Amino acid sequence: MPGGSATVSTPSSRRRDRPADGPRVVENRAGAIVARGAGVKQRARMRQALLTWYHKSRRDLPWRHTRDPWAIWVAETMLQQTRVEAVIPYWERFLARFPDPEALADADLDDVLGEWSGLGYYSRARNLKRAAEKVVTGFGGCVPHDLDALRTLPGVGRYTAGAVASIAFDRPAPIVDGNVARVLARLLGIRDEIESPPARRRLWEEAEKLAAGPTPGDLNQALMELGALLCVPRAPRCAACPLRAFCSARAAGEAETLPRRAPKRAPQSVHAVAALVVRRSKALAVRRPAHGLLGGLWELPGGDVCGPRAARPNGLAEILRARTGLSMSRIEAAGRIEYAFTHRRLHLRLFRCEAASGRVRLEGWDAHRWLAPERLATLPLGTVTKRALARIGVV
Ligand code: SF4
Repeated sequence: MPGGSATVSTPSSRRRDRPADGPRVVENRAGAIVARGAGVKQRARMRQALLTWYHKSRRDLPWRHTRDPWAIWVAETMLQQTRVEAVIPYWERFLARFPDPEALADADLDDVLGEWSGLGYYSRARNLKRAAEKVVTGFGGCVPHDLDALRTLPGVGRYTAGAVASIAFDRPAPIVDGNVARVLARLLGIRDEIESPPARRRLWEEAEKLAAGPTPGDLNQALMELGALLCVPRAPRCAACPLRAFCSARAAGEAETLPRRAPKRAPQSVHAVAALVVRRSKALAVRRPAHGLLGGLWELPGGDVCGPRAARPNGLAEILRARTGLSMSRIEAAGRIEYAFTHRRLHLRLFRCEAASGRVRLEGWDAHRWLAPERLATLPLGTVTKRALARIGVV
């Protein structure tokens, strides 16, 4: 990799190998494989190889047919944490409903979350709406092209700002997502844990140098595409890679073992109960507060319990009395579901029950509605609630 600013050079460094046409690779005192920069010319050759491959091999994705910064921004937001195939229909529906920042700024949050429902990580949708409002009030409804201005928008971090600035406006802005990090870590032979501050710093520095050439938008997309199609997490297809001649990990036989990651924490088990609470043929739905996990989404009332033994009718009745102010009768078990979040595994016991009359007093939710059970599915719901309704037999 050219110009590696984190190149390690010690008196004891010794020559180890050299990819055919690539950066010099040395082994330092700690045994780290490092790529030593080969300068502007070599970086230009890498760009050329990458772009030639990209123009020939890229997937035909709908957001690659537009330079509309709003459409690109929405795509890049959805693509964080979500697979391309899952994003496509959501992106098309979302843009049909909210074709510009103004349309999203004017929309009701329930409608926005409804369109996002099933895509997960709902803070992305809430932030996008807040950012659209700021674009309308602060930028005359036009998505700013300046990196610093983009970074002032809610939910727009370094990655999203770089993606919009480079892809929509061809600004020389770097981006480092999971795919780019993997490609660069292998290309440079970075052996620090990929999430560590020194590794992150180096990745961003190198991405910035690469994006500083012509067509930075295409270059950034090419790096991401390489990570998605060839430089994949397991069994990278080095023989077909346009950067194989420049790659330190390939030269050192480490393509499959880099990047290094910190050991994963075991997911924490969480036990919870929830119920279809019915009164006079209407079912109770409650809304989570706008901020925090699954903020603004509707769900069945319930809550966490201290373990599997507490996930019983008595435990449910106690939680619902405390959190809704209602007493329950005729509590029946209605199944269970399990769901894996990033860091926790949810074990949810489900019930049906009847609520005594009385006023609802909410604790931990900010709104409630009594609806015909079959209409619950028309609310913006998270995946767990959708699965719970299906398990109970409501939808
Ligand atoms: S040569 Fe292999 S490890 Fe290196 S960038 Fe290409 S696919 Fe990744």
